[in-house]
Amino acid sequence: ESSADNCWAKKAAEANTMTSTAMRTHMCGVLDVSHIGQTVSICGWVGRRREHGEHLAFVDLRDHSGVVQCVVDNNVDVRSEYVIRITGVVRARPEGTVNAGLPTGAIEIGECVVEVLNSAEPPPFPVDARADDVDESVRLKFRYIDIRRERMQRNLRVRSKINSAIRSEMESNGFVEVETPMLMPSTPEGAREFLVPSRKEPGSFFALPQSPQLWKQLLMVAGIDRYYQIARCLRDEDLRADRQYEFMQLDAEMSFVSQDDVLENIGRAVVAAAIAVTGEAPPEIERITWRDAMERFGIDKPDLRFGMELVELTSLFAATEFKAFAGAACIKGIRVDAATYPEAAASGRNKLDALTDRAKKIGAKGLVWMKVGADGAVDSPVAKFLTDSEREALVATMSAVEGDLLLLVADEWETTVEVLGQLRNDIGRPPVHQGPYRYVWVTEFPLFVGVDPVSGKPRPGHHPFCHPHPDDLHLFDSDPLKVRAQAYDLVLNGWELGSGSIRIHEPELQRRVFNQLGISDEEADRRFGFFLQPFKYGAPPHGGFAFGIDRLAAILAGEENIREVIAFPKTQSGSDPMTNAPTPVESAQLAELGLRLLPPPASS
Ligand code: ASP
Repeated sequence: ESSADNCWAKKAAEANTMTSTAMRTHMCGVLDVSHIGQTVSICGWVGRRREHGEHLAFVDLRDHSGVVQCVVDNNVDVRSEYVIRITGVVRARPEGTVNAGLPTGAIEIGECVVEVLNSAEPPPFPVDARADDVDESVRLKFRYIDIRRERMQRNLRVRSKINSAIRSEMESNGFVEVETPMLMPSTPEGAREFLVPSRKEPGSFFALPQSPQLWKQLLMVAGIDRYYQIARCLRDEDLRADRQYEFMQLDAEMSFVSQDDVLENIGRAVVAAAIAVTGEAPPEIERITWRDAMERFGIDKPDLRFGMELVELTSLFAATEFKAFAGAACIKGIRVDAATYPEAAASGRNKLDALTDRAKKIGAKGLVWMKVGADGAVDSPVAKFLTDSEREALVATMSAVEGDLLLLVADEWETTVEVLGQLRNDIGRPPVHQGPYRYVWVTEFPLFVGVDPVSGKPRPGHHPFCHPHPDDLHLFDSDPLKVRAQAYDLVLNGWELGSGSIRIHEPELQRRVFNQLGISDEEADRRFGFFLQPFKYGAPPHGGFAFGIDRLAAILAGEENIREVIAFPKTQSGSDPMTNAPTPVESAQLAELGLRLLPPPASS
């Protein structure tokens, strides 16, 4: 167990006088030389047990604050994970047996009276760091044992600190916590919803909230002015390292604000959470427009911890004879510099082929690679198609030196930036939880992205309540895909922490957005009338944001997967090995809901 973490637990336990109870005087992990001579009572679980001579045994007693060594009579029947209470005297360990790596390593408990509060079956895995290597589904099946471990104890406490820091920061900035319903109608926010059949109205369904979006906007119409909630959101989408069916967000909304007001207030909550965990304020949150993020990093959630930015090359090749480049809408490149990425820069033929395949998989027609040699010479299958001056200009524009690898893509703008953005991440991106922390606001997202292949209508960039950028309103009908939204994301180390926007508060504009999305006035009234109607009764200009607590907690806790900071998560395949949920239900339950099951779909 790492001593730094135990120190943290120790400080927490010392600060908390509530840890003494009718059964115990101290937490295990706080005892040290200052307690020598005191009689203490401690409670917890039996960790390791070692025989010590003929008559004695060492028992490590563990609670969430740490472990302490107890010297007990060898006849006492205590085994791994028994729940016991020990009353004994704190004494210095004999010389030569001090364990400097353990906060309690200078002392032990002697003259122990042991009380077995509960016996236990042998645990399915060791309750220590060795369980990290156990199959995750086993950890989740026995999550209540997994959580006894230091790692999980720390992670859940990190989470709790984040929640509490956010709450107090929001409250001190005038935000009011309002709870919103879990059972609601289906809404057009974009994610697939979980549906709940109604018993009273068979054939009708509630939806579980993808977010409290509609409610919080209605709270603005209702004059709450500043709302927040640490809200549970549910989305029926495939699970990943950073995605669960249900997750927690800091959800907030403010009236009479500009984008800056929202960013400042949310920024304060993020900083408060970071300080609560790390003790340090992160560097100022940077800002970048969506367009710049795409041009420079090829992605809307740029990881600013490393360089390798995309370099613009289109005009450099404007007159080229090289077929793959001639007339291409957008040519860009990245420089894999040999000093920073020696291995990637020195990639052999196989690796370069793999990179090319990857580029094609993402959507490029091909990938051009060039290895820079001495005096700006380049080694590349396409070198012969370039003129000397093109080659020289390329090497100069990309500031390339001997040993560097250049990767170039020529395609439509979207494809070029996306492919290079992915390759940049593949080659250079450190694990998400590895410091430093680089927060960045990405602003001015497009209002619509792409066109739905079925309806031929634009698709909302975020959700359909984002306010178009006032400077772009003239393009709304003529060139909708060019319209920016007053929408923004918060990104940390390449993970999207959250999103928000200034909202549409004008009913007429809201209708126009729905119409662009192919939702007629009638359909809008039928499906979302409950939401549109209130806006006729005096809706203030408003905007807000929501960010994921799970993602922030994972990164701040040094974890790469949000499951490690969630007490009872689902597996990647969406089930819970402990409860076996989801499970079939009795046919009587279905009948009561007016439901009958179809045969399961043939597996593909
Ligand atoms: N409701 C949005 C979301 O959950 C956030 C927002 O726009 O405030 O992504």
